[in-house]
Amino acid sequence: MKVFLPWFGHFGDLIRDVLPWIWAQHQPGDIVGGNPLHGPLYPAPPDPRLWAPVQAHYPAGYDYRIRPDALEERLRAVAQDLWPRADLVAWAPDGERYPKPPIRLPEPYPVDVVLAPRSKPYEDAKNGWPWADLARSCRERGWIVGLAGSWAESAEIPADVAAWDLDQAGDAMTGTLRLLCGARLVVSLDSGIGHLASLVDAPQVVVYPQRGDERRSVVLRDGHPVAMRFADMHRWNQRLCLPAWGGPDEVLAAIDEAMRARVLPGPIDAWKGRHLADVPGWTAPEIIVIRETDSSLVMRPNGNDIIETVSLTDLPPAPSPEEAERRADLCRTCQHYRAGNDQCAMCGCAFVVAERTRSRVARCPEGRWI
Ligand code: SF4
Repeated sequence: MKVFLPWFGHFGDLIRDVLPWIWAQHQPGDIVGGNPLHGPLYPAPPDPRLWAPVQAHYPAGYDYRIRPDALEERLRAVAQDLWPRADLVAWAPDGERYPKPPIRLPEPYPVDVVLAPRSKPYEDAKNGWPWADLARSCRERGWIVGLAGSWAESAEIPADVAAWDLDQAGDAMTGTLRLLCGARLVVSLDSGIGHLASLVDAPQVVVYPQRGDERRSVVLRDGHPVAMRFADMHRWNQRLCLPAWGGPDEVLAAIDEAMRARVLPGPIDAWKGRHLADVPGWTAPEIIVIRETDSSLVMRPNGNDIIETVSLTDLPPAPSPEEAERRADLCRTCQHYRAGNDQCAMCGCAFVVAERTRSRVARCPEGRWI
């Protein structure tokens, strides 16, 4: 028998990393540690005796400024007293990619837009995003607005329904899950609720300050860069998952567009250079999103936009001038090269060869640059 010691760090890491590991390892009869209020997320109800030391150490929830000190040792001691013959296991990064945890989903609660405000008791760049302004604008459009998450983070936001009003006593998760499952669209930051939305395949928009931040590390607190995890949400979510950048006006426009989106499976390459009107069954004002595991192509009447998710820090280095010239020479002697507009007929994009050959990410679709 195993005892899974509780995870006491950030909620986002619980959803994205710890739960998939627990669900992959859990056998009937194993004991699960975790917040009992989050019971629906686990394969078995978390044992409250294992959570009591965490609750005592972090009474207002996880706070990175409070050092864990000997918390894990205390949890091990509690577990050893209660189940002396059990294997005690705690999550640690192991480089594995576990499948999505098959949590039990409750009855959906239908709403138009679910907002997931986030604010922490410590200085954090995600605090203070003007959620109330966005909520008001959504309601002015006639959309029914739901709030996911906790009362403490969202009490001031105007809405039609709140997750905590849908919870039963002793449960702080079912209300949020019901809203996520019933939403036409979920709007969150790069946060635990964002990961939860991707877990339940809720169509979602994830808000970042500016384009590219979803693929970078962003300084959130104490000058430490924190890697954004949009790629993980995009990989999990089998429906719509797009980033939005800016403040309430920009995000409102992104919501409006996402509400009109139809998602189709890739491959993206076949659609890059084509117009919406080529998509069977397309009628205005619909937009089309073609998705692959790590990218989406957004097709709009005024042009196509590819959303890549791979981390910018994982990109290969820029080619040297000699390498760029070597590529250009290959293109100029290639049957697919169109000298008139300096473009590759195979690439299906608007970039000229002079740009493509200097790009860190561009590839020759024929594999001739290798
Ligand atoms: S990118 Fe490749 S296929 Fe296109 S013109 Fe250059 S060599 Fe030819």
